[in-house]
Amino acid sequence: MESKPTPNLPASFVSQLQTVLDPQGISEFLKGLEQPTPISIRYNTHKHVGPDAGLTPVPWCPTAYYLRERPSFTLDPLFHAGTYYVQEASSTFLYHILKSLELPTASVALDLCAAPGGKSTLLSSFLGTSGMLVANEVIKSRAQILKENTIKWGLGNTVVTQNDPSHFSGLGGIFDLVLVDAPCSGEGMFRKDPAAIAEWSPENVALCAARQQRILDQAGGLPKPGAYLIYATCTYNRKENEDNIAFLASEFAYEPIRVPLEASWGIVESEIPVDGQTFFGYRFFPHRVRGEGFFISVLRRAGGEERELNLTKEFRHDHLKRVPSKAIPKEIESQLIGTEALQLYQLGEGYFALDKERQAIFEKLSQALQIRYFGVELGQAIRGEWIPSHEWALSVLEKENIPRLNLSLEEALSYLRKEAISADQSPKGWLLATYMNLPIGWVKNLGNRVNNYYPKAWRVRS
Ligand code: SAM
Repeated sequence: MESKPTPNLPASFVSQLQTVLDPQGISEFLKGLEQPTPISIRYNTHKHVGPDAGLTPVPWCPTAYYLRERPSFTLDPLFHAGTYYVQEASSTFLYHILKSLELPTASVALDLCAAPGGKSTLLSSFLGTSGMLVANEVIKSRAQILKENTIKWGLGNTVVTQNDPSHFSGLGGIFDLVLVDAPCSGEGMFRKDPAAIAEWSPENVALCAARQQRILDQAGGLPKPGAYLIYATCTYNRKENEDNIAFLASEFAYEPIRVPLEASWGIVESEIPVDGQTFFGYRFFPHRVRGEGFFISVLRRAGGEERELNLTKEFRHDHLKRVPSKAIPKEIESQLIGTEALQLYQLGEGYFALDKERQAIFEKLSQALQIRYFGVELGQAIRGEWIPSHEWALSVLEKENIPRLNLSLEEALSYLRKEAISADQSPKGWLLATYMNLPIGWVKNLGNRVNNYYPKAWRVRS
């Protein structure tokens, strides 16, 4: 691939680099910005697709791979089926950190700044269907994108909320892990997104650092005793990184965690002395790693008393109510394997399934937070008719007994564009539309025509 022209960087940014790189490092860094941005994806192992032959793995995340070139993801039905997420390679280092921690099985994690959902979907996979993730995004339009990506990923272990970090203040002691992937000045995105250069200024760095400190002030008390807090940014400067770790470690009782590294990865470890302890941060420079600029650090909350959380007998909520499994049609219930392990809820016209093991925590969260999505929406009862939800189609809940309509690439693209498709040989009624055996949505075969139930808002326009 061709190299790019050297971007025109603000002089104050280059002089600020001296706090994290020596002169030789700065000149290599500037050359690194001329190299093409690597493209990488991370697979959804719950959807059983492997990497294409010959792809190079990202060294710190076994489900992530570098692509040879950027394909049209929009024109790949497997992308819409949620079989992979397009994720920048450096940020998949989160997997390596998670693997090195002593997280309990069935952990509950909070991703406080989660949209569009790169790290949330990684966390969702890592936690697995026995774990639970609260993926939060304060900005409404971004929370909607996070919800869509959560639905596509489909594990059913994620609650999407739209709240300011301060709204979590009564929820301390629930989480085994809190991730703060903070909004930042984006220095690490200069190569991938040159617009980030125009937005950069020392004033903006100071503004971002102050905002991050406010977020950490809210987040610092949320992990349980002995649980972890991971802080990340896609920027290099110390104000938004080391200084914030020092703030966190001096405001709350935390212990340092050192993450094992392979020298060949090119990641730079930074030492952060705070009150006689040394904390650690990990910095990714584009001239040293095959990825974009990134910083990440992990700390462990000091031990103490754990709070017990019990399921309340009665659940009161303005919009959400527990419903028995007979609330959904018999033919749908019979398709759901392990209904006895699921608690059903009704929210408006929608019926949702959630693992009973997560019920107590979910109900507690629902009292304090604005829930945008949770578990798996199975379907909606509209004027007496049951309409299966797209969310259920994309979820990893078993749908073995449902008749399928296997589509070719051409047909799958027509389906995703919401065009007419045919189902001549198929039984009448609801069919699960699949591409390469992976569900991409629903159709209803009426015999003389087929209704395409792909969500209007998700329609592929190219
Ligand atoms: N974790 C995401 C991922 O991997 O896809 C990227 C998160 S992005 C770096 C930071 C997010 O924080 C943005 O979605 C932004 O809307 C959100 N944000 C902005 N201001 C915030 C605030 N004051 N408190 C919490 N989150 C905020």
